[in-house]
Amino acid sequence: MRVLVVRHTPYAGDEPAKKAKACLDADMIREYTSIQRSDTARKASSKGRNLWMVFVADRKGVTRLYGVYLHDGTTKTAVMESLPEDFPAEAAPCPEDTIYTLDDTDVILDYVDRLRINWNGRPYLRKAETNTFEVEAIDVRGSVPFPGFDDIHLTRDELAGMYANPGRYESWRSAMAAVQAVYVIACTACGRLYVGSATGAENLWQRWGDYAASGDGSADNRDLARHVAEHPDHLAKFQYSVLQAFAPGTDPNLVVAAERRFKLCLDSVNNGMNANY
Ligand SMILES: [Zn+2]
Repeated sequence: MRVLVVRHTPYAGDEPAKKAKACLDADMIREYTSIQRSDTARKASSKGRNLWMVFVADRKGVTRLYGVYLHDGTTKTAVMESLPEDFPAEAAPCPEDTIYTLDDTDVILDYVDRLRINWNGRPYLRKAETNTFEVEAIDVRGSVPFPGFDDIHLTRDELAGMYANPGRYESWRSAMAAVQAVYVIACTACGRLYVGSATGAENLWQRWGDYAASGDGSADNRDLARHVAEHPDHLAKFQYSVLQAFAPGTDPNLVVAAERRFKLCLDSVNNGMNANY
């Protein structure tokens, strides 16, 4: 079975893009793809069944697998009546077009929404057998969106889960590795706080990764380690939050000054888990 590879560019700004955008918004990319006047599609169809891999480029030009359809070799007359009633009028077929019957298939369904390729400026419909496309990435399904620094309140289990499945937390990683930060670890079992700062390589991502990896939750901080040694059941109740994130390039001295201010505000030396200012 031959494979045809198609790419639509709904955000390219030209006339075909407007049609593709209307069909994308109407959830009719399959129907839009079925309308063709390409010789490549006609020749492939004349030889029987084909698999159509349909890619859509997003606003940034990232080309991602949108759907995979089976063409059984049959076609329809290119008129609006051959399309669903609510098919966008601006994408209506011309008399020179053919409508190819495209049916759902579960072939390589697992890669839909995940496979990203480099289209490299080639025409929008290609035969796979004579083209090579570089795979840019196969994204992990079920990735967790980064909520913003104000909304991070991770339990100990969530922290461990994040570093155990970093592929699902790629957006967290890039955000957390980019910024210096002052953070607070709250022992929700007893209310004690630990304020810390992250300014090294990979910043907050690195620092919290150390906490996730350390069995006593201390990342070699003796005061945290002592608290967990005295109250082993409290570690599971630790909560990790960001107090303040700093733009990349901020003078680390400002971050350390903010850390000290938060320790004073929260009294985390006298009544918490910090040893000193
Ligand atoms: Zn505690």
